[in-house]
Amino acid sequence: MPKIGILALQGAFIEHQKMLDTVGAETTQVRLPDDLQDLDGLVIPGGESTTIGKLATQYGLIAPLREFARSKPTWGTCAGLIFLAKDIGIEAQPILGLMDIQVNRNAFGRQVDSFEIPLIIKGIAEDAPFPAVFIRAPMVTHAQPTVTVLATLPKGGIVAVQQQHLLGTAFHPELTDDLRFHEYFYDMVKSNLA
Ligand code: GLN
Repeated sequence: MPKIGILALQGAFIEHQKMLDTVGAETTQVRLPDDLQDLDGLVIPGGESTTIGKLATQYGLIAPLREFARSKPTWGTCAGLIFLAKDIGIEAQPILGLMDIQVNRNAFGRQVDSFEIPLIIKGIAEDAPFPAVFIRAPMVTHAQPTVTVLATLPKGGIVAVQQQHLLGTAFHPELTDDLRFHEYFYDMVKSNLA
């Protein structure tokens, strides 16, 4: 049975774990490099990307995480999306730098620091929109042709992307009761093993 790890340094990792358990995945929390052994996929949760980066550096996780996510399905939500991006502008903070995207942290500013909006998502929520919850969210300001855009906001702004085995969302499917994103990621993990 495929096993999915959830990076559990800071942020909304328990919520992801519960959703993945619900869709039938075997799950475990990742805090140290050894925890990545035997995993078939990884979720990097939302939280605070500077804190996640600092702790990952302290625990010697940056290189092992980068190595893992080079070949195995990895999904970053919000801070996790920032962590996966190659370009986060001038901000100097540890990131994995794997997805060909440019991300603007806190793209929605202080005034609109959280909101929910129904979104149509390619391959995931095409008939009934997905309730997308944004909390001090980033936005993808540029995606290279290697990246598939899965969702954009009605006013414009890329908020869900996929690059082969890498998935990124600016919003938080783990804070809803809609399982479609977690099912989709679980399918990515299973098909990577097939
Ligand atoms: N603004 C946060 C950051 O820069 C991300 C917020 C979130 O993950 N909900 O890391």
